[in-house]
Amino acid sequence: MSRTALATIHLGALRRNFARVRTLAGDARIMAVVKADAYGHGLERVARTLDQADAFGVAAIGDGLRLRAAGIGTRIVVLSGPDEAADLAEFRRLALDAVIHHESQLDWLEADRDPRPLRVWLKIDTGMHRLGFAPEQAAAAHARLRALANVDRELVLMTHFAASDEFDSPRTPAQMRAFAQAVAGLDGAWSLANSAALLGWPAARGDWVRVGGVLYGLSAIAGKSGAELGFAPAMTLSTKLISIKNIQRCETIGYGGAFVCPEDMPIGVAAIGYGDGYPRGVRAGAPVLVNGVRAPIIGRVSMDLLTVDLRGVPQARVGDRVVLWGPELPVEEIAACAGTIGYDLTCGVTRRVLFVEDTD
Ligand SMILES: *Cc1c(COP(=O)(O)O)cnc(C)c1O
Repeated sequence: MSRTALATIHLGALRRNFARVRTLAGDARIMAVVKADAYGHGLERVARTLDQADAFGVAAIGDGLRLRAAGIGTRIVVLSGPDEAADLAEFRRLALDAVIHHESQLDWLEADRDPRPLRVWLKIDTGMHRLGFAPEQAAAAHARLRALANVDRELVLMTHFAASDEFDSPRTPAQMRAFAQAVAGLDGAWSLANSAALLGWPAARGDWVRVGGVLYGLSAIAGKSGAELGFAPAMTLSTKLISIKNIQRCETIGYGGAFVCPEDMPIGVAAIGYGDGYPRGVRAGAPVLVNGVRAPIIGRVSMDLLTVDLRGVPQARVGDRVVLWGPELPVEEIAACAGTIGYDLTCGVTRRVLFVEDTD
């Protein structure tokens, strides 16, 4: 056995989550966001599985290249558009849609002599203050794009929410109003909603929803797991116990001796660590499942190994399965123990973990 740590990707869960998004999205088209290697689940695998998507959203051209190389013919939107003038040739060669969010990109387009039409999404900054034209610049940017013969006439107008997971906050309605005002009278389809907005702000549905998290069964809402929102986790991270020893009272476990045994006790060692993407900063007591039974991590997580208090699982044996997160142990619970969100953990699983697929 070369590698013991496994990331099992549940293709059926991906499909069911997509079907639920389809229901929630009504008539809107669906951009399945697959940036960051499909939130750590594998770009090509997810794109092949979600072949019903109307488009895929990626962060950079390289991901578009990978998808085209894998034979994916679906529309692909590069969410930050070209990073330099020379990128435009790649957009055309690979038939990628470009999000245009900045003056400099308009300048590159105007200087570009390639006659092939480029599909463009015009991004307006309504309050996130990351990418996008200010609302008062929207009409001028739209007019500049419309004047270009080599830009497709079907523009999509988009904005991104900063706090759509806060269902009682006035920020999302304020962004929706700012968007409607900025694009009033401009033709083009509308795209506003991410996962949280799809769940909490039906009025923001528009013509295209852009969803990532919920497709993977990840929660877009603080304090809730993906499963509580009706989405199935698409990744199980698991490994095996490779050692069980009884350690005596007052002895310490692992680097720095962070855990002191309060009594003679069985300590299990699981073959996974921060080198695999398990968060090193997880607080003491974060749970794992040993043969389906919860047991707390003790001591520091090291690069290749972590240690588990097996007092509650006396029947545990070397070779037993240890689940770090998955359908039976929400990744959101582990993320909370590590001061982060589930997205961060699935994105962080490293290359040395063996990825396998199942049909569930
Ligand atoms: C990542 C991203 C999304 C998807 O967000 P989720 O919360 O994962 O649904 C949508 N739109 C843009 C512009 C993004 O960068």
